[in-house]
Amino acid sequence: MTVELICVGTELLLGNIVNTNAAFLAEQCAALGLSCYYQTVVGDNRERLIQTVQTALSRSDIVLLSGGLGPTKDDLTKEAAAEALGTGLIEDEVSRALIAEYFKVRGMEPTENNWKQALIPEGGRAIRNHNGTAPGILVEKDGKRIVLMPGPPNELRPMFTEEVAPYLRTLGGDVIASVTVKLTGIGESSAETKVADLMEKQENPTLAPYAKTGEVHFRVTARAKTEEEAAALNAPLVEELKRRFGSAVYTTDEAVTLEKAVVDMLLKKGLTMTVAESCTGGMLAARLVNVSGVSEVFKAGFVTYANEAKRDLIHVKEETLAQFGAVSRETAREMAQGAAEAAAADVAVAITGIAGPDGGTAEKPVGLVYISCYVCGKIDTEEYHFIGSRMKIRESVTAAALTQLRRCLIA
Ligand code: ATP
Ligand code: MG
Repeated sequence: MTVELICVGTELLLGNIVNTNAAFLAEQCAALGLSCYYQTVVGDNRERLIQTVQTALSRSDIVLLSGGLGPTKDDLTKEAAAEALGTGLIEDEVSRALIAEYFKVRGMEPTENNWKQALIPEGGRAIRNHNGTAPGILVEKDGKRIVLMPGPPNELRPMFTEEVAPYLRTLGGDVIASVTVKLTGIGESSAETKVADLMEKQENPTLAPYAKTGEVHFRVTARAKTEEEAAALNAPLVEELKRRFGSAVYTTDEAVTLEKAVVDMLLKKGLTMTVAESCTGGMLAARLVNVSGVSEVFKAGFVTYANEAKRDLIHVKEETLAQFGAVSRETAREMAQGAAEAAAADVAVAITGIAGPDGGTAEKPVGLVYISCYVCGKIDTEEYHFIGSRMKIRESVTAAALTQLRRCLIA
């Protein structure tokens, strides 16, 4: 079964609003096993709207429309859909009663154009809107199906989930199930090289890589008649990825982030931690506290930007700063050790580097970073070279710190 999306609204065409309805509907349709080959945005223009609907009907089994169901003159979707289907509009009694009720409850008088919202194409049925006045509409004709939904996402989303998705499910498409295998500590191209053979012969399940900052995700997706069958198709490929990537795989759970994986390891080992951050300015601490339940683990964070702060708060030696500089292996090491002592934590991660765009030298260029992990008396310090904007470098450093800590905790 093929589905096609049409989002109506001049605001969308002008870029005044972002087409989040398209993203939502496309994702939902994929999960329902419907193949979506086209998405169109069209303005509030009668002729172009009719043409767009006709084109969609000519090449897709199901057409989903969003927007333009309101009471005003520029809301033309219904008229255009009826025209494209070659039917007229009739009044839906239930919708009329609901509109009357909506206004009565609020002590308001409906205006003439509010009644327009009770009109539906002949042969269609209204879909109740629990979050607004414009009902949705479903029309089946000549083996084709059109679904009209209101534009506001807080109306469209519940309507789709509660009414439209169950209807689409009855049409008997396949279902889709996905598993995401999340890796860290390996670059995108070397990860892809390791699975080049699997990428080549993929069909069902498919295998798609996604690069995230400091991570690579592989999405394994199968199509089958039932969820269980799709999951069974995915399982061998997921196992193969785990086998090939070994400890670089930190989870196959959609809900688990890298910070969550690290916090879980600390919890399991019963260790507490702290951070000492210079160029990331608290970003590592912020990622850690994304994890609910981190309070069991995370004791304190030091943002030691100035040399004096490194010296006074986490006891980096004056001589170390003078001899090697703030951005050095030696300083990173003393930051980690000093932070662990100052916070009385078992584990400390220290970061010092140059995020740019200024402040680099030939000897210490922008992107040079040292990360030091102290774990129960053992210290591991690594040198990194990152590229990109200041923000991008800070994000990469934060991800690298989590990855390095994870590696130290495995070892
Ligand atoms: P209304 O009764 O509010 O006029 P409507 O069904 O006529 O609803 P539109 O007039 O097209 O819908 O859009 C109303 C509002 O809904 C827009 O101003 C915008 O905020 C939001 N909206 C519409 N389409 C989209 C979309 N594709 N993605 C995200 N938001 C949208
Ligand atoms: Mg409108």
